[in-house]
Amino acid sequence: MIQQQMLEYQKIDGELNRIERDLRKSEAYQNLRKYKTLRQDYEDTLNKLDAKASDLKNKLTQAKQAVAKINAVIEELTNEMTHVESSDELKYMSKKLDEQLKLLSQVEGEIRDVLREGEEISKKFEEINSKLVAIAKAYKSASEEFEAQKESINPRVKELREKLDALKPQLDKKLFEMYERISAGKVFPVFVPLSDGNRCGGCRMDMPLGVVESEMQKHGGIMRCEHCGRIMYKAD
Ligand SMILES: [Zn+2]
Repeated sequence: MIQQQMLEYQKIDGELNRIERDLRKSEAYQNLRKYKTLRQDYEDTLNKLDAKASDLKNKLTQAKQAVAKINAVIEELTNEMTHVESSDELKYMSKKLDEQLKLLSQVEGEIRDVLREGEEISKKFEEINSKLVAIAKAYKSASEEFEAQKESINPRVKELREKLDALKPQLDKKLFEMYERISAGKVFPVFVPLSDGNRCGGCRMDMPLGVVESEMQKHGGIMRCEHCGRIMYKAD
């Protein structure tokens, strides 16, 4: 005979698990998880955009420095040209000047590209920020709904937990250890009645009658099902 309090404990624990499982299956809870993931994704994107923006800022600083340098060279060349006398030298200097002007327009093109990219990034920033606002709102309402659901089951959960607490000190230590260990492996219920003398009440598999009878006798009316790992007990 298995301890009746142990079976009672299992029954109450099963109801508690069912209530908690149903709560996690609720739409509000699923929405909460969905919004959480979405928010994380958008925040990751924002971080990436942030890194890109600071990269662009660096590029812009470098380009501005390049422009200043080119302008200085151009000014110097222009000054020198006013003092040049030979036409060969003038040709050479003007070629040099052309080179610098070409360089200048190249850097200016780069700056335009950077600014355009910056604009795109800031547009994306705004887009994502407004999405995040919408998600925060949806998250809040899902969270309120979920809290209300939790609130509604709280009295029953409290009642069941109190019953479990009251039963626990009365339980056979060995049985309870088995119960904890096996249920931790997602096997539930742990204790199942033996049916038809040699069939597991959990997985419905048969075992040789002789083996069942001798094992049951050896272990005080319980034995482990070799197929599903549950503990079978004699029902009467
Ligand atoms: Zn079984």
